[in-house]
Amino acid sequence: MATGEQLDDHRLAKVEARTIRDRFPRFVGRNANGAPSGRGASYKIRVLTTDRGATGWAMSWWPDEKVPDLVGRKLSDLFTVEHGPADDAITLELPLYDLAANVLGLPVYEMLGAQGPTRVPIYSGAIYFDDLEPEDAPRGVAGVVASCRQDYDLGYRAFKLKIGRGHKWIPGEPGWRRDVEVTRAVREEFPDCRVLVDANDAYTPDGFIDYMRQVADCDLYWIEEPFTEDADDLRRLRDVMAEVDCRALIAEGEGRTANRDPAGPYGGYTQEHIDHLYALAEAGLVDVFLLDLGIVGYSRYRKIMPQLHAAGVVASPHTWVWTPRSYYTAQLAAGVGNVVIVEGIPGGGEGVDYSAYAFDDGDLVLPSTPGFGLRLEV
Ligand SMILES: [Mg+2]
Repeated sequence: MATGEQLDDHRLAKVEARTIRDRFPRFVGRNANGAPSGRGASYKIRVLTTDRGATGWAMSWWPDEKVPDLVGRKLSDLFTVEHGPADDAITLELPLYDLAANVLGLPVYEMLGAQGPTRVPIYSGAIYFDDLEPEDAPRGVAGVVASCRQDYDLGYRAFKLKIGRGHKWIPGEPGWRRDVEVTRAVREEFPDCRVLVDANDAYTPDGFIDYMRQVADCDLYWIEEPFTEDADDLRRLRDVMAEVDCRALIAEGEGRTANRDPAGPYGGYTQEHIDHLYALAEAGLVDVFLLDLGIVGYSRYRKIMPQLHAAGVVASPHTWVWTPRSYYTAQLAAGVGNVVIVEGIPGGGEGVDYSAYAFDDGDLVLPSTPGFGLRLEV
């Protein structure tokens, strides 16, 4: 419900930094390259209060010395509904979205234009190599199925399986075989769910094509970063997919090899990375861009979404590993549209109430509460 309040009725009175710790519902194992994700990471938030007592909060990772003193400034100088934060308030970008939406009495997605649906498909992004955990008594394939079951019980109806075991953790053939076993087991156990796979570029093109042939009947929903993206290799993959009637989406663009600083139109992604992605999309080789929510930036994502849409690609911003980012992404999806599915992270931050959001038939249903709809309890 709109409040009738205006942004220029308020001045920023206080900025408080705090640290929140996420708690995953279980220990999350390794992916193809890295160490286990564990039980959840910590992150910095900033809580903003105005002179009239309005508050807003969200993740804000910058160190204190990078955050300019904005106390006393009118909220309307720091943030506009149309563009987001002013240049000198970018360190408080997400908290300002929450605060402004709270002042206006609107969910963030309405402030963004409400161009997308208010229920968005969501997948669990937390299905790692749990077959290898615990390290002293690895559970095998059943460990991965158990993780899916736990997330199914939370309301998820789509699971993204990390694959690429043969690259490092179960070197060679046994690891590649385990990927197939895991994929087949999850497909069999959850016939009503979408199965996504993410190799974090750990396969060779030939190796991945071989995997694909062995799971051709598993009705994969998407294939993420199977190998380092290359037009010829992706075309070969597409050809084999057509041959075995695999209709999975191909999702690319999360990983970057270089950092752009200062940020450009796609934030910290270089123009080279972005041009390459668009070229692959134009050639019909990539369907989904996974550009990270934080690396691009929230306001920039609003601006680039029409460009993605014009290029015939949908987005699914990368959110792992901090739980609030899935909800910020859901608001973006409902606000500007063109988000095919949201990367969900089961669990939540200590002292944060996520209960305004609900799961229904595999969708995340957005609340009509103001701001991002996440409530800080303490
Ligand atoms: Mg990924």
